[in-house]
Amino acid sequence: MSKKYHIETSPVPPRCARVGKYGIVDWREDCARCHNCVKKACVYDRHRQELEYIRNLNEVDALFFDCMGCFSCVQECTKGLLSLSRNPVYERMGNTYWTPDIIHTTWLQAESAKIPVSGAGYRGRFSGPGFDSMWTDMSEIVRPTRDGIHGREYISTSVDIGRKPAFLTFDVGESSTTMGTIVDNPMPLIIDMMPSEYSLPTLEPAILAAAKNTELIALIDARQWPQLCETAMPYLKHIAFYLENGAALIEPEILKQTRLVEISDGNDVVKRIADIKNIHPQIVVAVRVELTSHGIERAIKLGQMDIEVIHLVADLNGNEIGTDTPRFLKDMVRHIHNALIEKGHRDEVTLIAGGGIALAEHMAKGIICGADLVSINLPLLVGLECHLCKRCEPGMSCPAKLDNVETDYCVGRMTNLIAAWHGQLTEVMGAMGMREIRRLRGEVGRAMFYEDLEEQIFGKLFGSRKPA
Ligand code: SF4
Ligand code: SF4
Repeated sequence: MSKKYHIETSPVPPRCARVGKYGIVDWREDCARCHNCVKKACVYDRHRQELEYIRNLNEVDALFFDCMGCFSCVQECTKGLLSLSRNPVYERMGNTYWTPDIIHTTWLQAESAKIPVSGAGYRGRFSGPGFDSMWTDMSEIVRPTRDGIHGREYISTSVDIGRKPAFLTFDVGESSTTMGTIVDNPMPLIIDMMPSEYSLPTLEPAILAAAKNTELIALIDARQWPQLCETAMPYLKHIAFYLENGAALIEPEILKQTRLVEISDGNDVVKRIADIKNIHPQIVVAVRVELTSHGIERAIKLGQMDIEVIHLVADLNGNEIGTDTPRFLKDMVRHIHNALIEKGHRDEVTLIAGGGIALAEHMAKGIICGADLVSINLPLLVGLECHLCKRCEPGMSCPAKLDNVETDYCVGRMTNLIAAWHGQLTEVMGAMGMREIRRLRGEVGRAMFYEDLEEQIFGKLFGSRKPA
């Protein structure tokens, strides 16, 4: 029996003062010194932790904002001395897509490798734009498939990257089908290159070490190889070089030690793939397709050619690139997936969806929409306490102090984050009654879409519905 996929983790504490959402303001002057003070009853022990935090404080302006916001102490204090306040630093983090809540929950997962628990129930919106207008089916949550999460059965998250035959052929009872090379990835995730606007820290050595710890593959721009080759040599099995149009090929003896390579799209993709296969016939070649206004049509066209893998990339917020009314990643992936089914080519090609994958649930949702796997980059940077403040330039002060960061810290936090995402993926799959991630691809019956429900239920009564 093959080994069960498991990621070794250990806690990696933050380097900076914690930036939480809520803090408690305590007007001590009128305190009646009750022997059963409500502060002692905080189930998260936050008041005692705050005292300890203040004692060890080395930054005077680093206030304690780590309250879970349950309101218990605020409501119960007999003199009404406690009040809840929101942290302005927290509210300024990220943007409308990469919300402070996403950033904060990513930090906690990168620290502990644990699945996030909100503490006082779900307080988010019922529905919203993007992936928030999609709900996964959890109807099997109490059924025995959940045993897979706790070790009695195995939930497989392994995916194949490469081109598969459309059907099998047999010659006198023997299979005569020629199978192409397939890369076995233990999780439906690969690590994409960091976007140029977040290039302050040099994270590639840490990303490669994290890819090795998690048995995943990381994309590295081939132009960086000369600077990276010394540190990156032991990780070649986990590297997929990205070759921009016109960029020089990697030396054959290096390329031959890798399993996957990605090239930019262009009119000569077929020739470029043939050139790479001439050097290393067993390598799988992916084509990167930017989801611009022509991206969908281009991906559908490539899917009908002999392409092995198509990497669909939206912008960092999951939107179509360069249009005024952009479509969201989930809708574009659904469109491409359905078009390839209609044309009879879907099962042959591997689709990777990237851009806007910010939470573990987005990985499952992207796969339900039709991707075989997803790619991420920003979540790994966020896991290093990044605020996504967009001040990634030499000379600007980085609030996460990432201009000078230790590799061990980065590797540990990235490994923990990927492990926490894997844990959440198996939780979601267990709750759906799924034991095999490959079966989830395109299974829209396992999800509900706000737009569809509105249209089917209220659309008939009130006309076309507005987007979420
Ligand atoms: S509001 Fe709740 S979590 Fe926050 S300090 Fe009070 S009891 Fe603890
Ligand atoms: S915290 Fe800001 S400056 Fe530092 S890495 Fe993140 S985006 Fe860049």
